[in-house]
Amino acid sequence: MPHRSLLPEAVERYVAELSAGERETQPVRRLRDETARMRNGGMQIGADQAALLALLVRTIGARRALEVGTFTGYSALAVALALPADGRLVCCDVSDEWTSIARHHWREAGVDGKIELRLAPAKQTLETLLRDPGPGSFDFAFVDADKAGYDGYYEQCLKLVRPGGLVAFDNTLWSGRVADPADREEDTVALRALNAKAHRDARVDACLLTVGDGVLLVRRR
Ligand code: CA
Repeated sequence: MPHRSLLPEAVERYVAELSAGERETQPVRRLRDETARMRNGGMQIGADQAALLALLVRTIGARRALEVGTFTGYSALAVALALPADGRLVCCDVSDEWTSIARHHWREAGVDGKIELRLAPAKQTLETLLRDPGPGSFDFAFVDADKAGYDGYYEQCLKLVRPGGLVAFDNTLWSGRVADPADREEDTVALRALNAKAHRDARVDACLLTVGDGVLLVRRR
């Protein structure tokens, strides 16, 4: 299991095992296991984060969801399963290789009809969505993509979600590097700036969750 949170390893294992408990269905487990064995498997969110996304989706009664950065589809599967039968999830990614794994598992889980995958730079797809179906059309968004692009995705997603809608950003603790002012690496700087911006942004309520590698959760006012 890749070490992905700031927790001591034994505690992280405890959380992971608890979260991927007996309620996890076989198609979800197969995708999670298959991805975890892959070269870039550490990019996949943890089972605890998948549970968090599903819980948020259900809590706000989301029907229209958005994902920026789909990889092999585990987070999208968690969100799609939490959406109602007529719910829709638009997924943005640029990799046909990774998302072909995603599409296979979405079919296996019977949620492929809820998911629309758009293979293009997310910035472009989000611009298209702002024209049709337009601003405020989504209830929920999850962003887990290129970190330098987060600020742009933040602005676009804030327009795309309705007031009261949620946007969650993954990896916003960046293995703790955001807390080290001496770390001036581009992704670290981008994530640190986004965390600071969200916390003083009058358009949102913000909370930096220390789950996984950090999840910045913002609610549009
Ligand atoms: Ca991530």
